[in-house]
Amino acid sequence: MTDEAGGPPRYVDKALAEDVVLDDEREEPEEEPPPWRDDDEREERDEPPPWPPGPGTSVAPRPHPCWSCAADVPSGASACPSCDESVRHLRLVSTRPQVDLRHGGCGPLHLGRDPCWAAPAVAVALDGEQGVSRRHASIEMTPDGALWLTEHPGRPLNGTFVNGERVPPGDRVPLADEDTVRLGTYCAFKVMVAEPPA
Ligand SMILES: [Zn+2]
Repeated sequence: MTDEAGGPPRYVDKALAEDVVLDDEREEPEEEPPPWRDDDEREERDEPPPWPPGPGTSVAPRPHPCWSCAADVPSGASACPSCDESVRHLRLVSTRPQVDLRHGGCGPLHLGRDPCWAAPAVAVALDGEQGVSRRHASIEMTPDGALWLTEHPGRPLNGTFVNGERVPPGDRVPLADEDTVRLGTYCAFKVMVAEPPA
């Protein structure tokens, strides 16, 4: 029995050694950090600032879009710096006829069937409405933000009513939020006063 005979043949030893080395090489990439660890670390770095802001942090007043031209209106402003419309405005809504329009302080809002006199959206909606005169009544917002309704001096045949009360011819009657304005017998509008957002 010699040493040479007892040991494995050299070529077999080499092949085994190569196999082991190959296995080691294959396992090496698994020791690198998996890709998701990078994402985790990134999220920690991009943590949002604490909310609510601590004392000493000033929050700028937020502008709101103008109802008339959609330009930014600074918080607290009474009129739009772009189109000059008052922030406080009238919203006139009716389901029959279908009307939903807004009107500010730039002149009176005329209600009637005459397309050359009344607000276009109103004239279209009132077209063919029984009991509504061609020039029926007007609503105006004065610079102090108050709303007033007057019947047209042509004396509409079927009258104008605020919350069921007939408007005396020639009178100027105040309107408030939630009032109902009726032209003639059937055609009624809800008055809503839109205030600037708080
Ligand atoms: Zn505007």
